[in-house]
Parts: sequence; structure tokens; C-alpha cells
Amino acid sequence: MPEAPEVQNVITYLADQLQDAKIVDARILHPKLAANLPVDAFCTMLKNQHFRKFERLGKYLHFQLDDLDLIAHLRMEGKFLILDSMADVDALDPVKDRKHIHALFTLEDGRVLCYKDTRKFGRMYLYPKAANWQALPVLANVGKDALDPSLTAQELLEKGKKRKIPVKTFLLDQKAIAGIGNIYADEILFHAGISPATPACHLDLEDWTRILDATRALLNRAIELGGTTIRSFSYGDGHAGSFQNELAVHGKDKEDLCKNCQGKIVQTRINGRSTWYCPNCQQEK
Ligand SMILES: [Zn+2]
Repeated sequence: MPEAPEVQNVITYLADQLQDAKIVDARILHPKLAANLPVDAFCTMLKNQHFRKFERLGKYLHFQLDDLDLIAHLRMEGKFLILDSMADVDALDPVKDRKHIHALFTLEDGRVLCYKDTRKFGRMYLYPKAANWQALPVLANVGKDALDPSLTAQELLEKGKKRKIPVKTFLLDQKAIAGIGNIYADEILFHAGISPATPACHLDLEDWTRILDATRALLNRAIELGGTTIRSFSYGDGHAGSFQNELAVHGKDKEDLCKNCQGKIVQTRINGRSTWYCPNCQQEK
């Protein structure tokens, strides 16, 4: 599932490609994709709108159009592709590609913005343009973005001290802090030297400071490298990230050793999620 760095790379790519592009026709082929409106209304509203701004909150993409806010969440496998023409869309492999395209936005210059999703879990939401898009209903329960400069260790301490859940689970809770998923949660806790099983309420201000510093360093580095490409994440015309080469613990094999202590990296499950950590370097409190 794409996390903040992957979503950031998608939104940066789309901003580069679509700034001020006009939608002349919109089609949605999987009704559930249009999550908050009937498909017909959704498509009619999009017609003649231009893409004006491209932003991200956590794992959500935000497109500001002339009169509307379009919000998208890619979930497991959602991808945006831009093809040069409808003929190119029709030329796609019907089984491998075409049947997984669930939205087609034709642009004035003939290009087509396609939304492809093999799992069909992704969703789009359309609202009349709001003064503050981050307060729109679908985002009401989303916490501060992990890279929001106003986020402080003190805020994390306040939220964490009421929670007995493992810190790994806390970091995955999009209401607590938005944009971190299973890969970066493991990496952040390794770099902060904290065991993923530690109850969030056991951590002090110094622990949260290390977590926040590691979060910023790792997510920014991953954005710089185009994100992490394990399983199938890619964007645009097959762009892929390379942060997977810098992963310290997540997804490691039994033979892989910790780069700090040369000890064994352990794989376990925390709240149902596969979790990797170094028991020497990451102490439980
Ligand atoms: Zn270690």
C-alpha cells in the first residue's frame, strides 16, 4: 500500500503533467470508486473543470479544481496513468490492463488520465470547493500529516499517553499521525531504537522526539528516492522508487543481519501486521 512518500511522488508527477489541464469528459466504470456521489453526478460535475492545485494529506491525494475539491485514496493498488489518447487506452491489453481501468478523464489536449486498480479498493470523493479542504468530511478523522512542520513530539506524547496499544499500531493509526504505513513504521522504530511492541503510553518525550526525527528523516529521504517499490508500487509511465535499497529491517530475510549490531533481525506480528525489528537495538520499555 502506498504510504506518504509514494503518494507524494504520485502527486508531484501529476502536478507536473496536469497543471491547468481541462477535463472535457469523465467516465467512471466501477460505481464504488465514486464514493460520495452517484456516478452520473460525479462525472457531470467534473466536466469543464481544470486541475489547479495538487496536494497530499497522509495517504490522500487532493486535486483542487475550479469549483470542486477532488480527493482520492489509492488503498492497496490504485494507480494513475496518463495516456496520449483514447486510442492508446483501447490498445491496452484487455485482460492485464484495460479491465483494471475504472476511471477515464479525457483532457482537452486529447490525453487521458486513467485510474487503474486491480483490487478496486481505491476511492474518490468530490465536494464543492471548500475554504479548507483538509476539513472535508472524508478527512475529518485524519490526523496531522507525518511531515507537517507544526507536528511536535509533545503532541505525540499527549496522544500516546492515553493509548495502551503497541507503538507500531499507534504509528499506523491515521487519526494519530497520517501517512505512515507498515513499511515506514518498522523503519522509523528501528532508527528511533524503540521496540515496536512497546505500549505507546510507556514512551516519554525523548522517545517521541527520536520517533519524530526518524519519521522526518526517513520520509524525506524516501520522497527523494521516489518512494519504496516492493510488490507493485509504480506511478506514471512505470516510474518506480528505490528506497527499498535502504530498508534496514522491513521485509528482511532470516539470514539478513542488523546493520548496527550484526544481530539477527526478527519477524513477528503486531496487531495482525507483519513486523520486523532488531531485538538488540530496539529495547522494549
Ligand atoms: Zn541491531
